[in-house]
Amino acid sequence: MADLKNMIAQLEQVALEPAKAVAGIKSEGKKVVGMFPLYLPEEIVYAAGMIPVGMWGGQTEIKLADRYLQSFCCSIIRADLEMGMRGTYNMLDGVIMATYCDTLKCVCEDWKVAVPQIPFIPMVYPQNRNIQPAIEYMKAEFSRVQAELEKIAGTTVTEEKLEAAWEVYEAYRAACRKFVKLVEKMPKTLNAKTRHLILKASWFMDKKVYTEKLNAIMEAIEAAPAEEFNGTKVVVEGIMTEPLALLDAFVENNVCIIADDLAHESRQFRTVGRTEGTVYERMAYRIADAKGDALLYEEMKTKGQFLIDLVKDSKADGVVVCMMKFCDPEEYDYPIFKVELEEAKVPMLYMEIEQKMDSVEPLKTRIQSFAEMLS
Ligand code: SF4
Repeated sequence: MADLKNMIAQLEQVALEPAKAVAGIKSEGKKVVGMFPLYLPEEIVYAAGMIPVGMWGGQTEIKLADRYLQSFCCSIIRADLEMGMRGTYNMLDGVIMATYCDTLKCVCEDWKVAVPQIPFIPMVYPQNRNIQPAIEYMKAEFSRVQAELEKIAGTTVTEEKLEAAWEVYEAYRAACRKFVKLVEKMPKTLNAKTRHLILKASWFMDKKVYTEKLNAIMEAIEAAPAEEFNGTKVVVEGIMTEPLALLDAFVENNVCIIADDLAHESRQFRTVGRTEGTVYERMAYRIADAKGDALLYEEMKTKGQFLIDLVKDSKADGVVVCMMKFCDPEEYDYPIFKVELEEAKVPMLYMEIEQKMDSVEPLKTRIQSFAEMLS
C-alpha cells in the first residue's frame, strides 16, 4: 500500500507542478509543443521526437489577455493567452491550436500577434466529420501540420515513426480506459481529486513513461483488497473539473467520481482506435468515430443517451454537470441532454464553474446538498 501511495504521489506532483515537469523534459534535451484544448494530433508531435504538453489554463489573474478577449470568453483560454503574453509559455518550442469553438477561432488570430515569440500551428477540423471527404481533408491537415512540426524539430517524420507514436498513444489510451474503471475498486484511495491529478499528469509527461507508471499503479491496485465505500457515486460531465478546491468539495462530502464525460479526461481516450489503414486514416477516424461530444458536431445528439448508459454501467447515483463559463458548444447541448436525463429519472446537479473563482463555497454547499439528497 505504501508503494501504491508513493507511485500515486509521484503523478500527483507532476500535475501540481506542471512547469517543473516540463522543465524536466527540456533538461533531457527534448523539445516540447503546447497543445491547446481540445483534440490535436499529438502522435505527429511525438513522431517528430518532441513531447506534446497540455495547455488547459490555470489559476491566474487576467490582465494582459483582456486586450484581446472579453470577460465572457472561457477562463481556460483567457488564462492560456495571459500566460502566453506574460512569457510563462516561453519554454514551448511551438503551439498547436484547432478552432473548435468561437473563442478558439478568435484566439487563433490573437495568438499570432500577442505571442509572436512561440511558433504557432493553427488547424481546422471538419464539422461533418463522418463523410469520406472529411477523412481526406483531415489527412491533408495532418500532412500540413507534420511539415510545420518537422521545421521545429529539425527532423523528418517517417511512416515508421508515426506507427511507433500511434502504438505509444493507443497503449496510453487503453491504460487510461482501464484506470478509470478501477476507481470502482478503490473509491477512497482514488478519490475525486487524486483521480483527476493522476489523469492530469499525462498532459505533462512523455506518454510512454506515463503509461508505464500508470500500469504499475494499476498492478498495485489489482493486488490490493477492494475498499468499502458508503458515499455517493457520480458521473461528471463538462470540459474539466478545476479549480482543485471544487474537487476538495467532492472529497469532503464523500462523493466519488466513478466515471466522467470530461474533455480533459475520458473524451481524450475513450474512442478506441481502428486497426486498419494508414496512421493518418486511423487518427482521422478517431475524430470521426467519437460520440456524445459537444465539440464534435453530431446531427443526432447522442450525449443524453451516452450519459444515461454511463450512469447505468458505472452504477452511479447521479450526474454532476460542471459547465465551464461560457463554453458555447457545451451550453448548446445542455438543454437537450437535461430533458433526456430528467425523462430517464437520472438525478442531476448543474454547476457553472470557472478556473479562477473568488469562492467555491456556494458550489461546496450545492455538492453537499446533492450528496445528502442521494444518500
Ligand atoms: S472550454 Fe469551450 S469555450 Fe473554452 S476553448 Fe474549450 S470549447 Fe472553447
